[in-house]
Amino acid sequence: MTAASGAPPRNTSELVASARAGNREALEELLARVAPSIHRFGLRMCKNAHDADDILQDTLLNIAGHLQDFEGRSSLSTWALALARSACARKRRWLKNRPADDAEALTTKPDPEPGPEQRAGDQELAAALSKALEALADPYREVVLLRDVEGLSAPETARALGVSVDAVKSRLHRARENLRDALRPLLEPARAATAGGCPDVVTLWSRKLEGELDQADCEAMTEHLRGCSACSTACDALKQALLACHRIGTDTVPPEVQARVKAAVRTWAGR
Ligand SMILES: [Zn+2]
Repeated sequence: MTAASGAPPRNTSELVASARAGNREALEELLARVAPSIHRFGLRMCKNAHDADDILQDTLLNIAGHLQDFEGRSSLSTWALALARSACARKRRWLKNRPADDAEALTTKPDPEPGPEQRAGDQELAAALSKALEALADPYREVVLLRDVEGLSAPETARALGVSVDAVKSRLHRARENLRDALRPLLEPARAATAGGCPDVVTLWSRKLEGELDQADCEAMTEHLRGCSACSTACDALKQALLACHRIGTDTVPPEVQARVKAAVRTWAGR
């Protein structure tokens, strides 16, 4: 069920108010907005589809049941992803206490329509990125997922994770550097040798993205990139890695996610 046709899209606070008042369609729309992010986050954090589905279900029910707690101080997606992260943590604790018999591998579904040849490179990159994300330690993976895949701001990411903005940024720089290193064979096949004495452009670029570079540092970096092909290749590789992260965040939503939204609304309505 969707909102009345022709009606303008309602903003989050209207939807929240309406859902709190018991409007089923408003709740469905609200959950449908955040469900894809929750699902992606769960899938990448748990590395398996079954657990990700549990996390999606738990989190949607949690949102529906705790709408009163949402004060609008953070964005709806920040709040939803913070709840998803708690669900992941509970899941991990639970899994730790039981024998590991369901080591189902993460099935990162490739694009259902592989399409022309140009997409082959994208898919190769997406597959390599999935592997690289998987290899990151949890604290690094979650910052990349929230910041670079889901597009939360650094302060929102900090709020969702319950850590300082500085901690988010430093983890982010390190994680991005790891990703770019992992993707190097694909992104920098013919890498020129650095002249030595080059700045750490990958971290510098990451810092620039987080607003941490002052103008002078920024100009110095730009100047260096202009004259140093090795560094400019490295920087391009980082940009491509981040674009690939962003693409994960716009993947088409699998039908089971929509089904979970409807199930959560039914449960909520039947309270
Ligand atoms: Zn250089």
